[in-house]
Amino acid sequence: MLIAGNWKMNTDLPRGVELAENIAAGIDEADSTYEALDFAVCPPFVHLQAVGAALQDSPVALGAQDVHAEEEGAFTSDVAAPMLTSAGCTHVIIGHSERRQYYDETDAEVNRKARQARRHDLVPIICVGETIDQRRSGDAESVVHAQLEGALDGVTVEAADDLIIAYEPVWAIGTGESATPEQAQDMHAVIRDDLSERYGTDVADQIEILYGGSMKPHNAHALLSQPDVTGGLIGSASLEAESFLGIADEAAAVFEERE
Ligand code: PEP
Repeated sequence: MLIAGNWKMNTDLPRGVELAENIAAGIDEADSTYEALDFAVCPPFVHLQAVGAALQDSPVALGAQDVHAEEEGAFTSDVAAPMLTSAGCTHVIIGHSERRQYYDETDAEVNRKARQARRHDLVPIICVGETIDQRRSGDAESVVHAQLEGALDGVTVEAADDLIIAYEPVWAIGTGESATPEQAQDMHAVIRDDLSERYGTDVADQIEILYGGSMKPHNAHALLSQPDVTGGLIGSASLEAESFLGIADEAAAVFEERE
């Protein structure tokens, strides 16, 4: 189970470092509560090195929020995969709905970025999810299938931890209106089936499928208790150590109940 924070374009550098320090202090390696769980934070690019240093002795992994598909070159303001790995990143979010919405990022671009991430041993957290209109018109599943088809074309997976999918219904992101546990489970099962067809059941069963969209401490337990929901991608609640750690506690409780 992975709990990952997407800080988006929030926090200045001192505040980002303080947040990372507080999260690292809460998720102490010596504390067995969290030993079965994985954690990551994805700060803005300019914070990566300093946040990485703040996380150095903690089990919390460092992720980025995007990556360019090319190795290097004349792409002003973009950030390449070797830059991320050399700054200590192990994970990278790809295809977040805000990238798709504000920068017209297509499934083909998501695919190029995902393949580039894998070439550099970065674990891509590939985001998929429908808009409210697509859900209302009954197209949610076909939209998510098409996004997976586009994003994963030619992406090979040797091990389940090579790849993470985040189901993030666009209508639930930043709105305070989370999907219900049943809605989340239904779509996660669809995603799991898609991954089984693509990679075989053994690999698919081990792939983390995160739910994202207004996950908070108060609803995390119900969402994370769903059989195919194996973690969370957390936006606003990851900007305070207390709420991120509150979700971590719920995840630990769910993990213990599953054992
Ligand atoms: C996100 O944007 O990835 C997200 C899940 O945001 P929030 O938790 O704020 O809805």
